[in-house]
This record gives sequence, C-alpha cells and structure tokens, in this order.
Amino acid sequence: MKMSIDEIKKHLAEHGVKASLPRVKIYEYLNTYRSHPTVDEIYNALSDELITLSKTTVYNTLDLFVKHRLAIQVLIEDNEARYDSDTSHHGHFKCIKCNTVYDFNYDLSTADIPSLQGFSLEEYHTYIKGVCDKCNGDVH
Ligand SMILES: [Zn+2]
Ligand SMILES: [Zn+2]
Repeated sequence: MKMSIDEIKKHLAEHGVKASLPRVKIYEYLNTYRSHPTVDEIYNALSDELITLSKTTVYNTLDLFVKHRLAIQVLIEDNEARYDSDTSHHGHFKCIKCNTVYDFNYDLSTADIPSLQGFSLEEYHTYIKGVCDKCNGDVH
C-alpha cells in the first residue's frame, strides 16, 4: 500500500497533522520501509535530501505521529524506539541474530486469560524475541 505524496498529505490532514515537507517525507519513509526504523535510521536516510533536518525534528515528528495515531511506537528494546505506520493491532517478533523485526497477526480478543476475568482490555503489546526462519535456515 504505497501512498503518493498527495495521499500522504491527505492522510496527515485527516489525522489533524499539518503536512509540512519533513512530515510528509518521514511518513513516506515509514510507510515505504516496513522495517520498523529507528529515529537514527530515518534521519540518516533523509538528511541528504532534507539538509535542514535534525534528529530532534525526526523525533518530534514521530512523537506527533504517535499522538495522532498515524504511527505506533515499538519498544521491543529498552534502548531503541522503533516506529511503524501500521497502526492496526499486531505483534512484533525480533530476531536476536539479524535484528529484523517481523510483524505477526494474532487475535487476543478471543484469548482466555483467567487471571484477568472482569478486566477490560484497552491496548496490548506483544513482543517476542527469538531466531527467525531465515537465520535458522542458515544453520543447515
Ligand atoms: Zn534472523
Ligand atoms: Zn509492526
């Protein structure tokens, strides 16, 4: 679901975010590269094109996106926040060998959690670490 620049501008506006050039470019990067990039990765990828871009701007823009539900923050490691333009509910798996973060779908709404009987769930995050199929395949 690659979006055109006009579609991105419209999407940002619909979420109450004014579409400045850095915001459009940062959203485009997030939406194109589904690798759950960090602030540093986005900054390094865009700083040649947007010479006035700072890491602070990237950080603040991503923060704004999260507040306006244009992106989610993926906190699979304590020391690195990653970002995802897919705001639908999904879990994340991080491979400890290649550091790739994979998306996976699951349904918690039908899950039976006995110790939470009578609780209502608003949001949930699932992080799993392990070794991905590609890295497992490399062993053989
Ligand atoms: Zn791997
Ligand atoms: Zn994701």
